[in-house]
Amino acid sequence: MSVIGTVLLNSVSNFYSDEFYAQMTDELSEDSLLVSELVSALSSATYAEEMSNILDSYSGMLGIDRYRDYFILNMNGEMLSGSDMSQEGTMELTGNVIAAMQRLPSARNAYGSTYFDYALYLTNGAQECILYIKDTQGEMQQLSWILFSIVLQSLFFGMVIAVVLSFFLARAISRPIQTLTKGAQLVASGEFSHTIENHSDDEIGTLTDTFNDMKTALKNTIDEVDGERQKLRTVFSYLKDAVVAFTNDGKVLHINQSAMEFFGKSYDKNFDLERMLDLLNISFTDEEISAMQKGRSKDVFSENGIVFHDKVLNSTKVVDVSFGEIKYVKENKTQIGFITVLHDVTNRYELDKSRREFVANVSHELRTPLTSIKGACETVRSDAEMPEDMRDYFLGMASDECDRMTRIVTDLLTLSRLDNNRTRWNIESFSIEDAVKHICDVLRVDADAHNHELSMFINGHLPNITADKERIAQVIINIISNAIKYTPDGGKIDVFLDAYDKFITVSVRDTGVGIPEADIDHLFERFYRVEKSRTSETGGTGLGLAIAKEIIVAHGGNIKIKSKLGAGTLVCIVLPVETALKAEQ
Ligand code: ADP
Repeated sequence: MSVIGTVLLNSVSNFYSDEFYAQMTDELSEDSLLVSELVSALSSATYAEEMSNILDSYSGMLGIDRYRDYFILNMNGEMLSGSDMSQEGTMELTGNVIAAMQRLPSARNAYGSTYFDYALYLTNGAQECILYIKDTQGEMQQLSWILFSIVLQSLFFGMVIAVVLSFFLARAISRPIQTLTKGAQLVASGEFSHTIENHSDDEIGTLTDTFNDMKTALKNTIDEVDGERQKLRTVFSYLKDAVVAFTNDGKVLHINQSAMEFFGKSYDKNFDLERMLDLLNISFTDEEISAMQKGRSKDVFSENGIVFHDKVLNSTKVVDVSFGEIKYVKENKTQIGFITVLHDVTNRYELDKSRREFVANVSHELRTPLTSIKGACETVRSDAEMPEDMRDYFLGMASDECDRMTRIVTDLLTLSRLDNNRTRWNIESFSIEDAVKHICDVLRVDADAHNHELSMFINGHLPNITADKERIAQVIINIISNAIKYTPDGGKIDVFLDAYDKFITVSVRDTGVGIPEADIDHLFERFYRVEKSRTSETGGTGLGLAIAKEIIVAHGGNIKIKSKLGAGTLVCIVLPVETALKAEQ
């Protein structure tokens, strides 16, 4: 509107200016009637008045009105007559008047002047004067003002309409954008359940639909990734193997539950690769560490990475440790760390150890009697003249050693059957009270021989129990025999029988030598004897308690030993009244 207004006002100004000068040039040309009349009026003495009258009659053609006046000036520029005599004396001498005074033609005023004027030099040879026409541009200014105010009004209304329209347009555009922004913020904060409503079919509507689709796709992808991560985390945390991921500079990146339990108190906030290597007593060269950090462990170590076998951790656990087989890689494939897996092989290690010990023990236990037998036989053979009683002594000794070997082999066979579940159980119901009484009666001879006082105490009424009578008797005999064996002569041996709930207990207490605390936990191990010398005299094999434990546990019971060195021992057997064992298994 401003540009149009400016162009319009300019055009009006140009139009008026052109019109004025065209009119003046037309009407006041040298050969025009008006000019010739004016020139002839010059010969009159009152030429100014006459000229004024002529001009009045031509005022319509010259456009004389309240904005345009004519004046008759003398050659000094003084007003002789005119359409508005009030300007006499105040009229300025414009460029055109001065030009006329110098008898020159009138010129067009410069653009931007505040009036149009035209001065015409007139002469009849004797008399001369100047016809001066001046337009104040009042009409033009009025029209310009009207146009200007129209433009201004249009501008104002246009602006008001534009503001109102912009407001509605802005609302129509910004509201869905605001909703979209809010939706995007919600998605950014992890809230995916919210769906953005779409009320339009335009570009913003398409954008909203696309955003909703994108959000659903994003949620599905995140759910999938989350699910996978959850799965991995669950697998990772339930792994029995300890897994620790380290960064290249040896800081812990991730550690699973098993690993924390593995390291126990050694795992704290300062735990790092160096500490772990220390704990496992593993040392790497600088070259090996740098190879691992660069993910080139296979170049330095074997194809399967680095595996250390049977490393002892905290002197209780034995582990196989693998290093650097799996690498943590980022998208750009640079290694940011490596994983170590600690596989607990304590059980296998212990089993191997006890198997080796067992074989060594069996060999040792069998070799001792064999050496004695061979020695006795060779002594008898080498001396044909040996007296009868001496020969009997050596042969008796060989026979005893044979019995001992037989006992060991029988015990080993019993244990082997128990181990392989090949024991044929003979389950029957019997009175435990009668059975223990009978055993005490049988062993009393032995006890008396050592001056032991063997007593039996029964607490209340004991129910009949179902069990393998012979094997339970074998266990009780073994325990009372041990009490007799390991109690110095003249001791006291008490057997207690008791019942509670669905269990009965048989306890044997002696006032014997007792067992050192450190040995108590090992008493049920095969061939375990407190002091080899202590038992070899008594003919023990170290298998009795192991067999006893297997039999009692098979029946669903338990056996415990309490002892104090030098003060005596208490062996307690707990048996269920009804065993779960089936007969003839
Ligand atoms: P053994 O045939 O050598 O007696 P056991 O398995 O019955 O084998 O016993 C294992 C070891 O436990 C024995 O060698 C003995 O040192 C110790 N022991 C068992 N019973 C007693 C007890 N009542 N008093 C002291 N030591 C005992």
